[in-house]
Amino acid sequence: MGQPTRLVIFGRQGAGKGTQCQRLVERYGVVHISTGDMLRAERAADTELGRKAGEIMDAGGLVGDDIMIPIARHRISEPDVVASGFVLDGFPRTVDQAEGLFDALGEDPLHAVIDLDVPLDEVTTRMKARGRTDDTDEAIAQRLDLYEQETRPVLDWFDERGLLVTVDGLGTEVEVTERLVSAVDSILDEHPAQPGL
Ligand code: ADP
Repeated sequence: MGQPTRLVIFGRQGAGKGTQCQRLVERYGVVHISTGDMLRAERAADTELGRKAGEIMDAGGLVGDDIMIPIARHRISEPDVVASGFVLDGFPRTVDQAEGLFDALGEDPLHAVIDLDVPLDEVTTRMKARGRTDDTDEAIAQRLDLYEQETRPVLDWFDERGLLVTVDGLGTEVEVTERLVSAVDSILDEHPAQPGL
């Protein structure tokens, strides 16, 4: 078996990130790490962390870096992830978290940071079509706006390090998967696991 693949994926809500993460898991044998899912599991188990994070999540805020960085570092150091690699989803969300990730990886390369790009008007249409009661026009606009403000600096940070690839998220699920796989494959071919990339 080759080197484990290590990816980070970004995408607006409604961009289809969940589905595409599943496809990346199947294609590259990586572990899907969603910090949102991890926090929801803590909540469901009613742990102290879950209670603390839950309040912040309900208020639409970001859980502090002091909590998130150790959680993510711990998960990526676990044996299944070390052996199989990962697709990180929902982390990093701040530049400090991105630095924490690099620090944790040490000599292990991060292969690609993918921005699954679906234009604002399209994700808005998709979210409205879900018809969820919390999906009012205003709530949707606010969440997307927050995503933009929050995520842009982190994407720029990765871009400055030559790691950012933007993948067009419009089209069928299969078409988007094909684009993702061809982007990741060409990176893996070009940079066969260079330490310290
Ligand atoms: P969404 O795409 O709806 O923001 P996630 O499942 O990624 O959903 O995260 C849900 C919530 O969990 C976030 O709104 C935030 O409060 C918290 N959270 C998840 N990951 C992080 C992170 N890396 N840093 C800070 N807060 C986080």
